[in-house]
Amino acid sequence: MISMWQSWCIKFIVWIQGLFVKPYRVEIVDGSLPRILKKHKLYILKEDSELWQASMVCPCGCAEILEMNLLPDERPQWEFTMDEERRASLHPSVWRQIGCRSHFFLKKGKIIWV
Ligand SMILES: [Zn+2]
Repeated sequence: MISMWQSWCIKFIVWIQGLFVKPYRVEIVDGSLPRILKKHKLYILKEDSELWQASMVCPCGCAEILEMNLLPDERPQWEFTMDEERRASLHPSVWRQIGCRSHFFLKKGKIIWV
C-alpha cells in the first residue's frame, strides 16, 4: 500500500514533469516536409486539402523520421487529432519494426512509451 503522502508526491512529480516536457504540437504543411524537422512537432502533410501523412522525428533520440499514413485506403493507417492548443494525438500507437523499435503512444502532445 502506498500512503496518501506518497501518492500525492507521485502526482506532484508528474505535474512538474508536464511543465517542462514540451508537448508535441501539430504543424500542417502544404506540399513537402521542411528539410530539417523540429523535435516536438507532428507535421501533417497536406495536398489538395487532403491530409495524407503525419511525420515526426523519432522521440527515442535516434533521429529517424517516422512517417505515418493518414489515408484511409492505405494500410497501416493512423488517425491524428489535435486539441485547442494544437497538442497532437495519434491513434493507434507507433511501433517501429526496424531500427530502434520504438513503441509509443502520442496523446495530447505527450509520448507514452509502451
Ligand atoms: Zn528511434
